Amino acid sequence: MNGDILSGELKATQNMRFIYRIKTKKEQKVWKNLSELTIAQVKVAKVQPLQGPRNPGEFDFKKYAQHKGVFYQVNLKNVDHLQTAQPQTISEKINVLRIHIINHLSRLPKWLKIHAQSLLVGYVPNAEKDFLKTLSILGIIHLFSLSGLHVLVILTFLRKITSFFKIPVDWVDGVFLLILPCYGLLVGSKSGIWRAIVLAMLAIILKKLKISVSKLDLFSLTLLVCTLIYPFAMIEMGGQLSFLLSFTILYLYEGTNLLLATFKMNLVSLPLICFYTYQFNWLTLIVNIVFVPLFMTVILPITIISAFTVQWPLWNFVNQIFDSLYRFLDGLALNRQFTFITGKFSVVLVLLLVIITLFYVESRNFWNRYLMSYMIIFWGCVLLNKFPLTGSVNLIDIGQGDSILITTPLNRKVVMIDVAGKVQFPTKSWAKHASGNQVDFNTLPVLKSKGISHVDKLFLTHKDVDHIGNLETILTKFDVREVNFGVGLENDLKIKRTIQKHPQIKFKNLRQGDKVKVGTLNFQVLWPQKSGKGENSDSLTLLTKIKQRSWLFTGDLDIPSENKILRKYRFKVDYLKLGHHGSKTSTGDNLLQVTKPSVGLISAGINNRYGHPNQETLTRLKKHQVQYFNTAEYGMISWYYNFFNNEERLTTFLKGDLIEGNRTKK
Ligand SMILES: [Zn+2]
Repeated sequence: MNGDILSGELKATQNMRFIYRIKTKKEQKVWKNLSELTIAQVKVAKVQPLQGPRNPGEFDFKKYAQHKGVFYQVNLKNVDHLQTAQPQTISEKINVLRIHIINHLSRLPKWLKIHAQSLLVGYVPNAEKDFLKTLSILGIIHLFSLSGLHVLVILTFLRKITSFFKIPVDWVDGVFLLILPCYGLLVGSKSGIWRAIVLAMLAIILKKLKISVSKLDLFSLTLLVCTLIYPFAMIEMGGQLSFLLSFTILYLYEGTNLLLATFKMNLVSLPLICFYTYQFNWLTLIVNIVFVPLFMTVILPITIISAFTVQWPLWNFVNQIFDSLYRFLDGLALNRQFTFITGKFSVVLVLLLVIITLFYVESRNFWNRYLMSYMIIFWGCVLLNKFPLTGSVNLIDIGQGDSILITTPLNRKVVMIDVAGKVQFPTKSWAKHASGNQVDFNTLPVLKSKGISHVDKLFLTHKDVDHIGNLETILTKFDVREVNFGVGLENDLKIKRTIQKHPQIKFKNLRQGDKVKVGTLNFQVLWPQKSGKGENSDSLTLLTKIKQRSWLFTGDLDIPSENKILRKYRFKVDYLKLGHHGSKTSTGDNLLQVTKPSVGLISAGINNRYGHPNQETLTRLKKHQVQYFNTAEYGMISWYYNFFNNEERLTTFLKGDLIEGNRTKK
């Protein structure tokens, strides 16, 4: 449950993801306090296939769900007639037990609760997902729900105690064999914990059968069994890291010191982390060296004791200490200076790097040819991402709104026009749910996957939410060096506040006749003529020549303003970003007649409520023989040009190449 949104999986003829909007605070309370197996009647509003990503770099939820056998999403209209039922099967009984344990642990203060729930039953509530994010940025997430390391630690501890009391080993093994699979069911599908459980059980069984196997055989058997029980684990970053790291440990030679061991482990996981997140944190190594012993000797024992003594007032004090610890870690994770954006690595390269590190892990000296080849390949790959041979113009598909990314080749300069945004409707406090915006889900993944670590210049066309609604998010989460906008927008209350809040960023207004230079790019400002309020008719309008093509970006400019521009300037255009998402109030006959664009690009959302692009506009485009493409249909639309020759390519994320050279593809 996330505010007023209840989601999960339901079993119909096949597994589906369901989403339900909770209607009242009272209903929310019922769901929140649910602790028994409950049967409900649902009314389906609609069923639709799961949506895949629409821009490069985005998280592919569709693929993720499909691996779990989920292909459709069901929107539920009503969920009622809730009735408590008796659990029948073992898994139902264990599930109810799990909920009781989660509820029991929720009486602990915040951090102890998170520790206990995630470590003991593999549960992290939606509201605390940020905590996991901090841990994963700092590279210590493997200690928590993912690794199962604590399971092995607890088992070792139990063995020591039982041997102290002289309890026969056979008995202990028997009890473990019974309890471990039940515990596996209890924690659900957390890959790392499963790995630990399977490993421990296999070791006991093989010992009972008097079969002696090497550590490597034991690892391989565990891998096989886990793949059979839960194949899904192997396609997640967590599962892959968990197995890769435990494989690596096998190859560390005896007596490797902690510093070198941690360094080697980091080197192994680095390519995978860059593959999935396009970045790494410089502090990972240090945080690991400090945090791993702290986790083993302090956090884990406290977590276990607290789970059995949830009432102790002492825990409030301990919680305060954890609170400052995680506040500090959060500060480190959010500090952009420690983050290095690498861009996306190819699968082949990741495999190559992992294989090289395994040789390195086995080797004895610190500096050798393995480490050298690793460094050359790793940094070569980063350099290719950072100094590309091509430049580009991209209409990022952010749904309804505008967000355009322009990059130049080699010593890359990065320009953005608008940052999109969603119109927020006022909601009651109980119904508020945490949700990221387009910057989190679309823009940042696109930028990071390309290895972009800062924006040299951000243009804001006008004050509408679908253009600048996410301004604060991008300025906080990304390195933006300068913001430019049409003259007059600086008087807007929101912009005023933003300017005050970010004194390190340069803000500048522009008017007709101004020229803006960013690296090799020259932008000519055609509009606004005089100070305005940031309305559609005041939209910042930019004309630029990139390589041999000229581009016109008009924001949401209306036809009367277009005509005023044309009274002063005469110019031809190759590519036109249509004004106002293809609304009929923009892109008039006159503009098309004079500038004669060959391609029109539209940034609009699927089934948007405004009916953009308007049929009238599309008819006008046809009349003037302008070929047009819409992000709603094609996903992100990109135009690439090569620095060394005259090659150019108009390509889209969903449907591939459209135009290559001068040839249009069908
Ligand atoms: Zn707009």
